[in-house]
Amino acid sequence: MGIIRLVLLAAAIWLAWRLIKQTFLSSKPQNGNSDTPSRDDNTPEAMLRCDQCGVHTPSSQAFNVKGHHFCCAEHQQLWLDHHERDEQ
Ligand SMILES: [Zn+2]
Repeated sequence: MGIIRLVLLAAAIWLAWRLIKQTFLSSKPQNGNSDTPSRDDNTPEAMLRCDQCGVHTPSSQAFNVKGHHFCCAEHQQLWLDHHERDEQ
């Protein structure tokens, strides 16, 4: 019965192919649409504008001082230095 062995072989190849496809897809997750290539993370997050340079930074990474947002500690310090001098 050669045909049964052939069918089993085909089934085995099909299963292996599915497994390979699944592992390949799970290692590279995509949410269906690939029209947002600039974003690496797939968790939507509020973007805050840096008051120093204007760059938009995720709220979890932004530095917040006195209701102002900054992309990094350097820009926060720069902005504070500038505005403290203005006040004096
Ligand atoms: Zn900045």
